[in-house]
Amino acid sequence: MRPDQRDSYLQRFRSRVLEVDAASDEVWVRLEESAFYPSSGGQPHDTGRIDGWPVIDVASRGGEVWHRLEGDPPAVGREVTGVLDWERRYRHMQRHSAQHLLSQAFVRVSPAFETRSVSLRGPDCTLDLAGDPGDDELRSAEHLANTFGYAALPVTSFEVTEAELADYALRRPPKVRGRIRLVAMGDVEIAACGGTHVASTAETLPIKLLTSERVRGGLRRVTFRAGWEAFDDYRERTRLTVELVQRLSTPLDDLGGRVVRLQEELAEARAAQAEARRRRAVDTAEELLRAGRLRAGVRVVSAEVDDELLDVLAEVLGERSGVAALLGSRDGERVRLAFARGPGGDLDLRPALKAALDEIDGRGGGRPERVQGAGRRPEALERALRAAWEALPQP
Ligand SMILES: [Zn+2]
Repeated sequence: MRPDQRDSYLQRFRSRVLEVDAASDEVWVRLEESAFYPSSGGQPHDTGRIDGWPVIDVASRGGEVWHRLEGDPPAVGREVTGVLDWERRYRHMQRHSAQHLLSQAFVRVSPAFETRSVSLRGPDCTLDLAGDPGDDELRSAEHLANTFGYAALPVTSFEVTEAELADYALRRPPKVRGRIRLVAMGDVEIAACGGTHVASTAETLPIKLLTSERVRGGLRRVTFRAGWEAFDDYRERTRLTVELVQRLSTPLDDLGGRVVRLQEELAEARAAQAEARRRRAVDTAEELLRAGRLRAGVRVVSAEVDDELLDVLAEVLGERSGVAALLGSRDGERVRLAFARGPGGDLDLRPALKAALDEIDGRGGGRPERVQGAGRRPEALERALRAAWEALPQP
């Protein structure tokens, strides 16, 4: 077994550079022995230092552990000290060991809830499960996994031959052949695994399921956190709920209800605002119509209006037959256009929009009876509206 597999808690070791591969612009080295864990089985690689060199990647090639270093390659034969980034590694051990307990808990809740794949790359880890567990079953499995944790079961690993495998009730068959490493957690979990694990199941606590969603292949993906990362998450959620409770002046158990009431109030206020805007638009539309000019049998309204009223005015005027509206508005550096014509008639507003867009350096489009656009030259709005008017068909 590799040093990291003999003792997951080995954080510092002495070794010697056996081989250097700097053929590409990456520097990779192989040591006589290494406690650095290479990416595999869903568990991310370790980082750390080999003497002064930062270790930025660790990979397994043909059963050998290779370290990618930053900087110039070290000399072959050099005696070195390897030091792991322990905080990172320990979190990986917590994630991975918790995943064993959760996977075991799920098949105990129902043999159908097999773990099909895992991701332990971030603090939010995922399990993809078969059998589509429901909310009650998710809660049962979470409870059971934490119960395994509170039992503080010893985690041990040992190697067996393929012939000896039949003596063990493995949750998961091995993916490798020859001598096979088994990991046992008390008498509740045993699986073939080459990863790094905590020494006691208590070190995975707490194990918290966060979300659950359906994913491809009829699987259910559950997100979980374990150990320090679950604690970090709890701290953040606590901070957030305390802030919300204070901001909304409401007790925690009423937070959801308060948010729903606020959403309802907001929807009502928005509806009232839209209604007021529409009433204002109807009044403005009447004023604009009085100033409208006849062109090709259509009463044409052309004006700069409040940006807030632009769309609703185009809508209101676009409902009047025998009317065409060429409207523009300014909002800071932005200029907007909305042209509309009422039902009946065959006036196509698109050429008028194109003529106006050329003036404001803008873009837009639409249907013959309703077009819109926007540009970046607010000073040219008046000219743009005039160009639109000119582009309308002559009588
Ligand atoms: Zn494992």
